[in-house]
Amino acid sequence: MNHSVASYLQTDNLGAWGTYLEQVDRVTPYLGHLSRWVETLKRPKRTLIVDVPIELDNGTISHYEGYRVHHNLSRGPGKGGIRYHPDVTLSEVMALSAWMSIKTAVVNVPFGGAKGGIRVNPKSLSLGELERMTRRFTSEINMMIGPQKDIPAPDVNTNEQIMAWMMDTYSVNQGHTSTGVVTGKPIALGGSLGRRDATGRGVFVVAKEAYEDMGCDVTQARIAIQGLGNVGGEAARLFAKSGAKIVAIQDHSATLYNPNGFNMPDLLKHVSIAHEIKGFEGESIAVDSFWSAPCDILIPAALESQITKLNAQSIQAKLIVEGANGPTTPEADDILQEKGVVVVPDVIANAGGVTVSYFEWVQDFSSFFWTEEEINQRLDKIMTDAFRGISYVAKTNNVSLRTATFIVGCERILKAREMRGLYP
Ligand code: GLU
Repeated sequence: MNHSVASYLQTDNLGAWGTYLEQVDRVTPYLGHLSRWVETLKRPKRTLIVDVPIELDNGTISHYEGYRVHHNLSRGPGKGGIRYHPDVTLSEVMALSAWMSIKTAVVNVPFGGAKGGIRVNPKSLSLGELERMTRRFTSEINMMIGPQKDIPAPDVNTNEQIMAWMMDTYSVNQGHTSTGVVTGKPIALGGSLGRRDATGRGVFVVAKEAYEDMGCDVTQARIAIQGLGNVGGEAARLFAKSGAKIVAIQDHSATLYNPNGFNMPDLLKHVSIAHEIKGFEGESIAVDSFWSAPCDILIPAALESQITKLNAQSIQAKLIVEGANGPTTPEADDILQEKGVVVVPDVIANAGGVTVSYFEWVQDFSSFFWTEEEINQRLDKIMTDAFRGISYVAKTNNVSLRTATFIVGCERILKAREMRGLYP
């Protein structure tokens, strides 16, 4: 075997991409004859770096770095969100695109994995600047995207309005309206009912299933949630509605604790106005104390690499359900496994979003739209069945849920790869 490592993959600190590579290495011994193809998963199929120049409102020209990565297209068109964040890097986008390949395979929707992003603090831009940046970025990645090629969606700091601008820009360049080029659109432009809440809903459905699998009842659980954005906010709402108590919350602004459980409708109202949890009633605790707060289920629903070897030991929860992508480092995974903490990995836990994105794409193609009830029923069934399948693989192979999820995902991708064969 002579696999020379591509130059741009050689860095000292691989971050999220390093986490992903370690996860693939851990699953390789279980892949049997398919391990011959595993190198396919360790390098993205294609990556694009673009310059995004825009004129700011004050007349100056500002340049932003944008990315779109196709990790793997063996099972279908690329699928994955667009992230706007000042810390976005190519290697982070590569990791996020790879997790999309695994995720789409795990819930068995006919997509590959892709991701994009712009290295920008969107909060520093006016609405007009945000629109110009989004439209220029869409034009720059035009050769990568399309309803049959690669379908972007929202991710951290992007939303329905940004998807509407992307859809419009692509459509203007094509000369006809093409709703299926992005998902997570406004309902009025071919968006799907239930899409906005789908990721948080999926987190709740899978958490309930996993907790029952452990012989426990979610309605009695104490929950800690990091991040009350689109994912954490909806998951928290559903947990509270089921009777569970949200006892600890954290975002960029504060860490709050309330052993009696926060009033979720009031908290979500506060967040929708203030865009942060700061100012809501509850005991303010130290940032690091969030991880050791007494709770039963912990939901990281913010960014990558939050649960590390520095805080894993102090975690009190019996169950962790990863709403965020890549929140746990491999070292932390080992510590948690040693402690007997069950971890439901991101690539199943937060797959509800891309599942309803698939429904949206299908509805756009057929120009026939489903009811919210149909969407939620199908979503719940796909998530529950996928989790049960993974739990079975974990038990029969005596491996963690993460390794089991990667066995299922990698096998599906590599079987497709093998059947397609190499060209030429
Ligand atoms: N950004 C979401 C994720 O990380 C959704 C992607 C999509 O719907 O394509 O899964």
